Amino acid sequence: MEPGYLKLYESGELDERIEKLYKILESCELCPRKCKVNRLKGERGYCRSGEELIVSAIHPHFGEEDPLVGPGRFFGAGGSGTIFLTNCNLGCIYCQNYEISHLGQGSPMSIEEVARGMILLQNMGCYNINFVTPTHFTPQLVKAIKAAIPKGLRIPIVYNCGGYENVETIKLLEGIVDIYMPDIKYSDSQNAKKYSNAPDYFERCKEAVKEMYRQVGDLKLDHRGIAERGLLIRHLILPNDLAGSWEVLKFIAEEISKDSYVNIMFQYRPMFKAKEYEELNRRPLLSEYNRAIDMALELGLHRGFRRELLLRV
Ligand code: SF4
Repeated sequence: MEPGYLKLYESGELDERIEKLYKILESCELCPRKCKVNRLKGERGYCRSGEELIVSAIHPHFGEEDPLVGPGRFFGAGGSGTIFLTNCNLGCIYCQNYEISHLGQGSPMSIEEVARGMILLQNMGCYNINFVTPTHFTPQLVKAIKAAIPKGLRIPIVYNCGGYENVETIKLLEGIVDIYMPDIKYSDSQNAKKYSNAPDYFERCKEAVKEMYRQVGDLKLDHRGIAERGLLIRHLILPNDLAGSWEVLKFIAEEISKDSYVNIMFQYRPMFKAKEYEELNRRPLLSEYNRAIDMALELGLHRGFRRELLLRV
């Protein structure tokens, strides 16, 4: 399947989208925080980011979901072509990548350099370009896609975001992003405020995920099992059901699709400031994880997750 961005490039529509996205940077509303700062004049909002792209790493990644990584996971072939952006529009106190998201670890890169990085990943055999935490750099990344197309970019774009998105920004990505991979972190607004400083998280996330699904539908795989297009949702199980999993899974099953690909994740461990919060200061129990799996099955979901049978050491 040909990635959608090629059509927009040929019609000139990609230029119009870039113009609209850069206009937003003049009074930034890229995400629901709507800081209204002029990032083109060096002002910074909650995400502490200006005009210049800041990147912490570019490399093939074999730890992502099977449909992104492909069958070469065990012998280092294929993989997802990850580009990790520095800073974040969320403030998760348990962030597993806090050096990058909160402490600003990374280096400035030009649009051209990122475009060349995308081509390098494609030439290394990656199945997609996976922008990790792209929300606050969306205009620059779309510009980098445009710069990479004449250099030969042909693999799908993955928008791997935290789920705290402005639906108006997501609308501008129609036909550019092939695979949306949002987190849905919480259903409870108090927990979203306490742990990520985003009390309206679930409301904004639901709007955005509905729009993503409208654009790309359920996740479609090719004959090798590699993702071509669609929605892939991540939900991280937190201890003491702080993620409010029933409501999250119910939303997915009832308002998105029972055929949604949902990665119910068991890898939470206390990082960054989580030790200051007793209720977050442990890994989830196997029973807590499997309870979420039971919920998903009860709601009719069936893709992207499996019961954990083994105790972790
Ligand atoms: S992207 Fe950054 S500056 Fe823009 S609204 Fe969000 S947090 Fe504020």
